Amino acid sequence: MSPVKTAIVTHGHADHARGGNDHVIATADTIEIMKRRYGENCAKKFTVLDYGEELKIKDVAISLHPAGHVLGSAQVLLQWRGQRAVMTGDFKTVPDSTCTPFEVVPCDLFVTEATFGLPVFQHPHPKHEIEKLLHSVKSQPERSHLVGAYALGKAQRVIKLLREAGYEKPIYVHGSYKKLCDYYKSRGIDLGDLKSPAHMDKETFRGEIIMGPPSALKAQWARRFPDPVVCFASGWMHIKQRAKQSGVELPLVISDHADWNELTETIHATGAQTIWVTHGREEALVHYCRSQGLNAEPLYLQGREDEDEG
Ligand SMILES: [Zn+2]
Ligand SMILES: [Zn+2]
Repeated sequence: MSPVKTAIVTHGHADHARGGNDHVIATADTIEIMKRRYGENCAKKFTVLDYGEELKIKDVAISLHPAGHVLGSAQVLLQWRGQRAVMTGDFKTVPDSTCTPFEVVPCDLFVTEATFGLPVFQHPHPKHEIEKLLHSVKSQPERSHLVGAYALGKAQRVIKLLREAGYEKPIYVHGSYKKLCDYYKSRGIDLGDLKSPAHMDKETFRGEIIMGPPSALKAQWARRFPDPVVCFASGWMHIKQRAKQSGVELPLVISDHADWNELTETIHATGAQTIWVTHGREEALVHYCRSQGLNAEPLYLQGREDEDEG
């Protein structure tokens, strides 16, 4: 993908936000997250758009609306001569206390992501998954628990869910989490006591929870923890085979993407008559929309990698 003159960025994940564009339009949180990940000068110019605020470019009115995916995430509404088109970016509709809740934006054309666009994908309640983790910690106090979670969004959400479930002990976090966790905290999201596991005795970690990005779980870094129960928080953990292959002992199905029911309910809620499906499993959702009498097409994006952060 090549840099562009003006980019409307829905959120800070690497498959949606890149450095090197001239002008970036995004929410304040997304811009701050981009600067922390890609550097202060990752674009020449930034325009902050608050949720619901309108910006006119020629005769198109652009506005951003909460997507409920990660902090700062937005859907994009384009209005032109009375026609309304919404691009969801990544989204979910289930509550997440680390970001603003998803908002249904009525429109004529709805361009939806479809990461989990198959009827088999029905996410369990995240509280239930956190209970599984806490139960495992309690029943195996001699082992450490090593939780893999992507650094932007998923890590903070899992930490927040642990706090909401009453877990008050320090959580040991990989160095790569620091910048983003600090930013979330600065935005009033209470993550409790986070500690670096560096330079600590191996025995310290028995009965403790340690978190790091998926790449760190297989690295030298992970060897300092005693007899770890390897956990991974992702919507992909639905697929037992995948958990097994990646050596995950305790899969936690915690997703920042809409599942099949959320996708289909949202499509109806927007009132849109035309649906373009992208970013994942397009076919099943296109088929579903057509069976509901809607116009639907897959939209294959250029330069998109196959898999998302889940
Ligand atoms: Zn994302
Ligand atoms: Zn994505």
